[in-house]
Amino acid sequence: MKPSNPRVKLTVTIAKDVLQKAKKAADEKRIPLSRLIENFLEFFTNPTVYCFKCGAGFNTSDSALCPKCGWMICPKCKICRCGLSEESAIAVFYMRTVYEDLLAGRVKQN
Ligand SMILES: [Zn+2]
Ligand SMILES: [Zn+2]
Repeated sequence: MKPSNPRVKLTVTIAKDVLQKAKKAADEKRIPLSRLIENFLEFFTNPTVYCFKCGAGFNTSDSALCPKCGWMICPKCKICRCGLSEESAIAVFYMRTVYEDLLAGRVKQN
């Protein structure tokens, strides 16, 4: 987010207890709630993930989907789920589930 971006007001209605808990957690981490929302919306619009093999960060829009495993191919090392052991693949699967719960859908679709 560039500092020159104009700021706009956002009004949303969410569950009271969710907001109260989020405010408390944000206070403890000293992060303004507006920045948290902004971060999430940026992530939602264009998720950045990290390769589970080489650790390179990449934008999901910069990666292709493997037709075999359906997971993103790292633009740097070209690894997808197919290049992992069964044990690592299971760990990756559940990590991916966290993303998909967060994003309310697939991280990347065809
Ligand atoms: Zn990689
Ligand atoms: Zn694959």
